[in-house]
Amino acid sequence: MILGLLKRRRRRNLRTQPFPNAWRAIIGRNVHFFPRLSASDQGELLGHVQVLLAEKNFEGCAGLKLNDEIRVTIAAQAGLLLLHRDTDYFPLLVTILVYPSAYLVNESHPVTDHIWEEGESARAGHTGSHLDSMVLAWDEAKEGASDPSDGKNLVLHEFAHQLDFENHATDGTPVLATREQERVWSEVMRTEFAKLRAADETGIPALLDTYGASNPAEFFAVAVEAFFERPLGLRAEHPRLYAELKKFFRQDPVDFSAERAAAG
Ligand SMILES: [Zn+2]
Repeated sequence: MILGLLKRRRRRNLRTQPFPNAWRAIIGRNVHFFPRLSASDQGELLGHVQVLLAEKNFEGCAGLKLNDEIRVTIAAQAGLLLLHRDTDYFPLLVTILVYPSAYLVNESHPVTDHIWEEGESARAGHTGSHLDSMVLAWDEAKEGASDPSDGKNLVLHEFAHQLDFENHATDGTPVLATREQERVWSEVMRTEFAKLRAADETGIPALLDTYGASNPAEFFAVAVEAFFERPLGLRAEHPRLYAELKKFFRQDPVDFSAERAAAG
């Protein structure tokens, strides 16, 4: 209780620290969505960046030398997931390991439903509920921040997994406000996940990355990427999914989407 109060006070202080000009310049250069946020959301986001940079460890791996550009570009994207919500700043996450680019892992992955292949595959990011860390490839993290509407964003994807873990299950469901919201959420997600699986099996092009057909946890992470990167498309094609994400995130990315600018 006392700890909670102290933590809240420390975070409030961090959020009101003057934001370094050099960091703001980095965000201006690297983070496409920032200039389109409202002034109050920009201010809130910068506060979240201060807290994240103070509380999370960043480590460079495979020879990557960490600098402010890397840390600020990652934290600014993660902070987008915190806007307007009372959160504990990804409480299960302690360390963010940053590689220069995609790295090879030894893993088994399915070739068909019944055949698994062992081997090395390239991976741009990873996090797990049993880990207190996240791995990100810096080139992909930077690319995701700079391309406003390709539907892909590595940092949003991996931090969405962290939100999913907060209810102590890797099930594609973050902590929701009410029982009723949980009921609607699980019904909508089940339906939408089944649709994406069907699209994946038949090869019909889908707005959502078919990687999300792997399991409900990946479905949620992929849906979060689409929600922020292609909100107009998602709202038009998957209105119920869009509505649930909008309710959870307490924001409407259509308001600051580059997709709208592109569509005129
Ligand atoms: Zn994932």
